[in-house]
Amino acid sequence: MRAAVVPKVSAPWEVQDVPTPSAGPGEVLVRVRACGVCGNDVGLTRGGYPFPPMDPVIVGHEAAGEVVEVGAGVSTLDVGDRVGTTWVQGTCGRCDYCREMKPLTGQSAMNCAAPSLAGMTVQGGHAEYIAIPADSTVRIPDQVPFELAAPVLCAGYTAWSALRVARVQPSERVAVLGIGGLGHLAVQFASACGFETVAITSTPGKQDAAKRLGADLVVFSGEELRAAGGADVILQTGSSFAAASEVLRGLRPDGRLVLAGIDPQNSFTIPPDFPFFAQGCTVMGATHGGLHWLGEAFDLVASGRVAPVIEEFPLARVNDAVERVARGDVRFRAVVTY
Ligand SMILES: [Zn+2]
Ligand SMILES: [Zn+2]
Repeated sequence: MRAAVVPKVSAPWEVQDVPTPSAGPGEVLVRVRACGVCGNDVGLTRGGYPFPPMDPVIVGHEAAGEVVEVGAGVSTLDVGDRVGTTWVQGTCGRCDYCREMKPLTGQSAMNCAAPSLAGMTVQGGHAEYIAIPADSTVRIPDQVPFELAAPVLCAGYTAWSALRVARVQPSERVAVLGIGGLGHLAVQFASACGFETVAITSTPGKQDAAKRLGADLVVFSGEELRAAGGADVILQTGSSFAAASEVLRGLRPDGRLVLAGIDPQNSFTIPPDFPFFAQGCTVMGATHGGLHWLGEAFDLVASGRVAPVIEEFPLARVNDAVERVARGDVRFRAVVTY
C-alpha cells in the first residue's frame, strides 16, 4: 500500500510503498479514504513530542474509510461498513488504571501503562489501509462524506467533548477561544445547541469567518469579552496558554474555562490581578471523552447543522498540507485523500 511515511524527525513526509497490514483477531482492516492532519501530527514529526518508535513512522488519527476485511471474533462490523478511527485504539487491560474499568478516552492514553495510540505507538491513518480494533471504531453516518468525517474524529471529538464537560446550562453564554481546526467546530456545536456563542480571535480574516460559522459576537480578547458582558463557559481550542490566561478576564463569576488545546511550550497561569479566589471559577481540561460523545458529534454533522470546513489534498501533496498546518494557514482543517 501507499503511505505517507516520516523517515526521520523534521524530514519531509515521503509517499512510500509499505506492507499492507491485515486484520488480526478483534480487528478490522479499513481502506482509508481520508485522513485529517492534526497539529499534533506535525508536532510529533517535527520534534514537538518524542518521535514515534515505529518502523515505518506513519502518523494520523483522523482516518475515515470502509471496512474491507473482518478479523476473527468480530461480529459488530461487516465488509463495506463506513467507519472512523481515533487516536486511542486500546489499553493494556491489566495496569492499575485499566483495573478501574473506565471507558476508552484521551484520559486512557495518559494513564494506561501501555496504551495503543494511532500514530504514536501503532500505525496511524495516513496510509491506504489501517488495521484497528473493531471496538475502537465509530460508524460514520451515510450522509457524511469521508473527507468531512475525518476532522470530526479528533478536532470535532475534542471540541464536542469540551462543550460536554463544561455542562453548559440553558441561558448560559459560551465563548470559543481560537478559530482553527477545533475552534471552528466548537463555534458550530455551541451555536447548533442554541447557546449564545462568542468567538474570541485576533487573527485578521477570522472574525468574518466566525460569524459565518454561527458566532453571535466576535471579540479580540478576554478584556473585550468582559466589556461585552463576559461568558459563562470559555472553550480554549488553540495552542497558546498565554491567550487562555488572558481570557480568564472575560469569564463570568462561577464560570468554567475548559482547556482543550495543547500548548507544548508554556504553562497555564492565573494572572496576578485576576481575583480567581473570589470568582468561584473552574479551570478544567478536556480531551476525547468517550465514543458515545463522538457519536453525538457525528449526529450533529449528519443533521447538517455542523459542517467541517476543510482544505483537501491528494496524497501526492501531503507535504503541502503539513506545511500549511505548521504555518497555521489552513482554513480550517487539512484533509489528505487516499
Ligand atoms: Zn488530533
Ligand atoms: Zn492499562
